[in-house]
Amino acid sequence: MSDLTNLTIAAARDGLKTKSFSASELTEAHIAAVEKARALNAYVLETPDHARQRARESDARIASGDAGPLEGIPIGVKDLFCTKDVRTTACSKILGNFVPTYESTVTSQLWRDGAVMLGKTNNDEFAMGSSNETSALGAVISPWRRKGSNTPLVPGGSSGGSAAAVAARLCLAATGTDTGGSIRQPAAFTGIVGIKPTYGRCSRWGIVAFASSLDQAGPFTRTVRDNAILLRSMAGHDPKDTTSADLPVPDYEAAVGKSVKGMRIGIPKEYRIDGMPSEIEKLWEQGAAWLKNAGAEMVEISLPHTKYALPAYYIVAPAEASSNLARYDGVRYGLREQGRDIVGMYEATRAAGFGAEVRRRVMIGTYVLSAGYYDAYYLRAQKVRTLIKKDFEDVFAAGVDAILTPATPSAAFGVGEKGGADPIEMYLNDVFTVTVNMAGLPGISVPAGLSSEGLPLGLQLIGRPFDEATLFSLGAVIEQAAGTYPVEAWW
Ligand code: GLN
Repeated sequence: MSDLTNLTIAAARDGLKTKSFSASELTEAHIAAVEKARALNAYVLETPDHARQRARESDARIASGDAGPLEGIPIGVKDLFCTKDVRTTACSKILGNFVPTYESTVTSQLWRDGAVMLGKTNNDEFAMGSSNETSALGAVISPWRRKGSNTPLVPGGSSGGSAAAVAARLCLAATGTDTGGSIRQPAAFTGIVGIKPTYGRCSRWGIVAFASSLDQAGPFTRTVRDNAILLRSMAGHDPKDTTSADLPVPDYEAAVGKSVKGMRIGIPKEYRIDGMPSEIEKLWEQGAAWLKNAGAEMVEISLPHTKYALPAYYIVAPAEASSNLARYDGVRYGLREQGRDIVGMYEATRAAGFGAEVRRRVMIGTYVLSAGYYDAYYLRAQKVRTLIKKDFEDVFAAGVDAILTPATPSAAFGVGEKGGADPIEMYLNDVFTVTVNMAGLPGISVPAGLSSEGLPLGLQLIGRPFDEATLFSLGAVIEQAAGTYPVEAWW
């Protein structure tokens, strides 16, 4: 493996500035790494020629002193972000070979700042899943393995390709989206950093919609500092997304290394769930001890509606998905299967184009929105959502600055090990993350240790609305105490 693929964004930025290497060299090293790692299936589309062209342009800007904040930084883009003239599939057959004529706002800001796209990364179909196994383009294999075992493991999902690519050093960073945990859970499973910003922080324009009131874009990186650097470019107000917040984007990097002395950190008692492995419990205590050593104060808090978050999420998210996915009708995008008449064409197209998990969500969503069941399910779930949000508001109003929880209830599992017989087994992965989407809050997952099997485990920090900066300060403390977790290459 080349040294250039081992760099952090911060180090690559310095190296490019001092001309220790060129953007083209940095990009070539990553193109070679991507080609060598095809067994992981992290990328569903490699764009090396595009990357080389962009890197040359970066070198020219560096030479003329016009470098942007991400100049020459090679990154992967989740295949949920529309990329102009570059195939975008959401890893669904129904989008076929869809080539957008426009660029998502978030990615356009990355290119504006000089980043170089290496390709599109794999994800669960329409971001529905927790293991990247629902992708129509095949599962992603995690770069991690259990100690002394060759069993292929999942990288988590839905942004599994992005997480695997960052952990395996197939890019310096990648974009993800998080509707119920799809950035934080794969970050935890692969030993890297991932933040889901506050709802409204990043524009959703040009991102394939799953559940519009929950979806948020965010970065995957190998360090907290890099995460802060990338989020600054991704975030910001966009008049094309009416839910995007018209607020200034702080210099998040300045928050990294800032003292956390005197901060009050909530430890929610409801997150101590039955059957949670003792190593997760220990990790959580360790995290609290690290923050305490840094001068923060731990306070026990209660978020009483936590236990309703998963059931409510699995009503709200499918309801919105069933509405968002109605547009895939064989007329406007991608795949079309012939039928006897137009209804037959819709039916044949949607039956052939959607995978099993997506079909399940569309059916559940349509059911909970139907006239006879709307009040019993959808309306009730919306009320529960309000209560979940209020739990957090009460805690923050009482002076808590952030909340510390485990990121996931376990380490990564094997490909095919979960969810085959019972989808709920898979849904339970998001027990610590969905509450944050339901409340619209920011949440970061930071690597904090290894399981007894040698797999990464993450801690989650949840913040006040639009206070991502505090999460970067606290995350940096955990990172410093825990260290980083580079994976050994076997591929
Ligand atoms: N695993 C959750 C789901 O399947 C969340 C996915 C996501 O955040 N996109 O819905």
